[in-house]
Order: sequence, then C-alpha cells, then structure tokens
Amino acid sequence: MIAREQRALLKSKIAGTGYPCVSLSINVPGYPKSNHAVTCFFKYCLQDLQYLLKSHLIEVLNREAIEKCDAAGDYFVAPVSAGNLGIVELKQICEDFEGGHPLGRYIDVDVYDEKGNCISSGKSKFCFYCKDKPAIECRREQAHDMVQLRSLMFSNMRDYCNRQRESLLSKQLASLAMKALLYEISLTPKPGLVDRLSNGSHADMNFLTFADSSAAISFYFEELVQAGFAFQDEKYIRALPIIRNIGLRMEAAMFRATTNINTHKGLIFLMGLTLFSCGKLYSSLNHFDPEYFRSIVRDICRDIVKRELQDSKSSNPTHGLAVFQSSGFSGARGEAEGGLQTVFEIGLPYLLKENQLNDTALTQCFLAIASKNMDTNILYRGGQAVLITFQKLCKTALEDYTDSNFMKVAEFCKNENISPGGSADLLALSIFFWSVMKCESPFFISSLIQSYDI
Ligand SMILES: [Zn+2]
Repeated sequence: MIAREQRALLKSKIAGTGYPCVSLSINVPGYPKSNHAVTCFFKYCLQDLQYLLKSHLIEVLNREAIEKCDAAGDYFVAPVSAGNLGIVELKQICEDFEGGHPLGRYIDVDVYDEKGNCISSGKSKFCFYCKDKPAIECRREQAHDMVQLRSLMFSNMRDYCNRQRESLLSKQLASLAMKALLYEISLTPKPGLVDRLSNGSHADMNFLTFADSSAAISFYFEELVQAGFAFQDEKYIRALPIIRNIGLRMEAAMFRATTNINTHKGLIFLMGLTLFSCGKLYSSLNHFDPEYFRSIVRDICRDIVKRELQDSKSSNPTHGLAVFQSSGFSGARGEAEGGLQTVFEIGLPYLLKENQLNDTALTQCFLAIASKNMDTNILYRGGQAVLITFQKLCKTALEDYTDSNFMKVAEFCKNENISPGGSADLLALSIFFWSVMKCESPFFISSLIQSYDI
C-alpha cells in the first residue's frame, strides 16, 4: 500500500512539470508484483513504447522520467511533449500500443493530462485468462485460481522474452557476419585476392562483384541462426541437410547476383555452419564459449570428409572433390570436421590481441592462416609444390613483417596466377569470431536478452 501511495506521489510530482505524462506498468494479479520474467518483459515493453512515442514525434522528457521496481511492481512514468497532438490522440496511440501487443492485456499504459488527471477511454478491458468477461468482473468474483493465473502469465512472459532474445541475437549475429565479409574484402592489399584496388589473380571478378555477392547471401544469415536455435535433434549430424538447404539458396542467390561467378561458395558452407552453430550455442548458453562452439561444429561435421569426399560417388565432382581425389586434402570440409582449427588456433589469436581491428592485425591473421592452410583454391590452380612455396613465403612475411616480404607473396601469387581464396574465407571467419567475442559485453548480451531457462 505504501508503494502505491508513493506512486501517486510520483505522478503528482510529474504533473507539476506542466506536461502531460505517460506511465507504464505490468498488470500482475496477487503478490509479489514482480520477478525476473516480469522485469524483463517490462523492459522490452518500455523500449517498444519509447520507440513508438518517438515515431509519433512525441518527445519523452527522459531527464524527468522515473523508472523503478518496488512492492507495487515495475513502473515507469515520464512527462511528454506531444507537439501538435492533443491528449486524446496521445491516449489513442497508447491504447493502440496495448491493443497491438501480443501480450497487451498484461500491459497498462496510462495517460495523464498536464493537471495530473487520468485520461480514460471508458472501455473496459477483458480478462486475460478467460477472455470472455471484463477483467474487473473476474477480479471481483475471484473467478480464477490465483496460482494458475500467475503461472500462465509468467510462462507467457518468459516465452515472449525468449522469442525477443532469439530475434535480437539472430539479427546481431547476422550483422556481425556481414561486417566480417565487408572487412575481409576491404582489406587492401591482399596477395592474389580481390581487394579495393586490385582484382588479384581473377579476370572475372572485382570488388563490386563481392559487394553484389555479399549483399545477396547476407539475406540468409538471420535464417541460419534461427535454424540453429530451433534445432532440437540429439543427432547433430542431422543438422547438415538443414544448413545445406539454406546454403543452396545462398549459392543460387550468389550466382544470380554475380552472373554465374563463384565468389563465396566456400564461405557459404563455413559461415552457414558457423551461424547455425551459434544459434545452437545461444539456445543453451548466455555467452560465447569457443570450446563448446567448436564441439557443436565437430559433432555436426563428424566424418564429413569420409562421407562426402572419400566415399563420394558423385557424377558431378566439385573443385573440392577433384582436389581431394588428386591430393588428399580436404579443404573447407576438413576444416569444419576439425572444429575450425585453423581459425581458432592459428588466425584468431592474432586478432584477439587487438581491441580494435586494424590492417596490420588483419594482414598478420591472414598470413598466419595462409602459412598453414592447405588451400584447395591454390591446389586446384597451382598444385602442391606451388602451395608449399606460397606457405613458406607467407611464413617468412609473418615472422619478418616487412613490405618487401609481403610483396614477395603478392608477386608469387601474380606469377603463378593463384589466389588463396580458402584462406580469405578463414580470415572472414576469424573476423566474425573476434566480433562476437569482443562485442559480447555489454552490448551483445545485455541483461535484456539473457535467457531465463539457462
Ligand atoms: Zn476471467
């Protein structure tokens, strides 16, 4: 009761500012009025309400706002400057917010005029439990069991918050994947590869071909994360057709965007696997654990080299298969089966030393990867002896990091007409993991999107 009186006091204090005000609270029957699920739900609602008001050019005077959680529950109240809008229109916007929200019956958005009088629409709300009588009647008659009422409400709120979390995380991971592609292609110079100033050893593609391709495949990044979130099967190997199904659509989009040039085929496989596995990881963890992530990737790709390369009877062999049959090197599939070993153990450590990515760290990460990676793009175009010389040149350039040593790598690629595309893909993945690990706190996994069930 004291908390309620305090609340009335807050309202009158805000009314003293001479502006109308808007309050938000959650309608929880019984006691206590709040818990972790209610507070998180409240925070999502508050964020949505703030954006909605702003989108109607209503300014929330946040300096005067009060947000608190006490015995009466979670509460927000703030004066607003509604511009040309009258109080009735303001009330209507807030009512539409409640009406349009999937759990709108749990939300109370109240509007007060500049004198502190509550503006009522005169409509009575329906009971959120039985949905066929006005809430006030059910409350008066104590029509429903309080324990059941509360448990249904909390479980709906938890589900809602977990869906919001999943959606936010999927968007953030998709955005970091796109960032990784942009950073990789923009790094200039790169030996043999397409960059901002050169087409490297490629006659059929340039920087803009990669821009087209990146934009086309990024369309599917969010879907890959969501597929990982949704994956419940205990046999991880069954994830492969799901990832491949989305990957095939990405390939088709890539070929459409580039008029049949293969810019990102290897990356589509590795980034597809990565984004899916991130979704799986975040469905049971609130932070990125590299070892757990790698174990998911290894489980999904168990025996993939044997199944797809050694035992392959494909009548339409890919570059990867042709290289495997002639040299025994397993390319992107081998990297995946090893839980992205080259990325996590060789490339990424060069980036993790940095708090902000820069050209030197990116180039060193690339050279470290290229000095160890059995790049099937080079094997396909140059053969094994050429690859070994290339790796040695990269190792020297990394150990003695000078322009002249770097130029030797670039010239060798030019003379042999080779392009370390496989290593470029692993660089892009390293950039992605750097972003995930560096951005995780506090922006990435804010308290708002911590899962409850974990
Ligand atoms: Zn009812």
